[in-house]
Amino acid sequence: MGGAHLAGDDAVSGVDAPCDGEVERRDVGKMEHGCEHYRRRCKIVAPCCNQVFPCRHCHNEATASGDRHTICRQDVEKVICLLCDAEQPVSQVCVSCGVNMGQYYCDICKFYDDDTEKGQYHCYDCGICRVGGKENFFHCVKCGSCYSVQLLDHHQCVENSMKQNCPICYEYLFDSLQGTRVLNCGHTMHLQCFEEMVGHNKYTCPICSKTALDMTHQWEVLDQEIEATIMPPVYRYKIWVLCNDCNKVSEVNFHVIGHKCSHCNSYNTRSTSRPADSSGSSSPTDSSDNNL
Ligand SMILES: [Zn+2]
Ligand SMILES: [Zn+2]
Ligand SMILES: [Zn+2]
Ligand SMILES: [Zn+2]
Ligand SMILES: [Zn+2]
Ligand SMILES: [Zn+2]
Ligand SMILES: [Zn+2]
Ligand SMILES: [Zn+2]
Repeated sequence: MGGAHLAGDDAVSGVDAPCDGEVERRDVGKMEHGCEHYRRRCKIVAPCCNQVFPCRHCHNEATASGDRHTICRQDVEKVICLLCDAEQPVSQVCVSCGVNMGQYYCDICKFYDDDTEKGQYHCYDCGICRVGGKENFFHCVKCGSCYSVQLLDHHQCVENSMKQNCPICYEYLFDSLQGTRVLNCGHTMHLQCFEEMVGHNKYTCPICSKTALDMTHQWEVLDQEIEATIMPPVYRYKIWVLCNDCNKVSEVNFHVIGHKCSHCNSYNTRSTSRPADSSGSSSPTDSSDNNL
């Protein structure tokens, strides 16, 4: 040990801890190279088109305007060290100059990142690397993705919920670089898209129409507004509403402000026709009435 490291002379030196000199060598150029997506000390050779890119996102962005195709990250076989320019098979340490081409390295995803503050980890169930710290996430088998431990036993599972496009911007959610939000109904969207939606005063899931977040307070405000707003006699009649949250129908007083489900107290309701089996003097033709 300690002599000049020629190309690959001890690239597979086993499980011994590296001596100090090697640690320093491995850190050379750390955090100084990369692209807007990752800090890393290598470029990848795209297996699909044989072209060289800083990372797979750079590849996908570049091809988006041409012969649109995406890289399969696991298929990357060759990288080029940014410090010594040596093209070589994927591995963490450059066989030529001995630097870590990524402080974090995943042998499955062929993924390099010097910025370990992100807390990268490989999820074997997802089959990809994620960020945020392994201790902060668990893999929900039914939803098919890693979720924050805060959601453990506290979310509605939706089969493969994350293997869908965001209902707002249509980007595929599963391997999106942006944060995601799980709605009360279990459907998912980008956190940023969710915040924009709420900013436009829309509080319901675009997929299933259920209330997307806890509205207890807002429903109480509506209760008070309705109590304070007496409808003129001509509008005092009853209508049937279908609740988007519990899917039950109820017969309620018509009110211009809103209609509250008598089963779950949600105002996320819409007027519906009288149900066929409702009691009262319904004649067969009543069922086709539109209430409004
Ligand atoms: Zn390609
Ligand atoms: Zn090198
Ligand atoms: Zn990985
Ligand atoms: Zn996972
Ligand atoms: Zn789940
Ligand atoms: Zn989105
Ligand atoms: Zn939903
Ligand atoms: Zn309801």
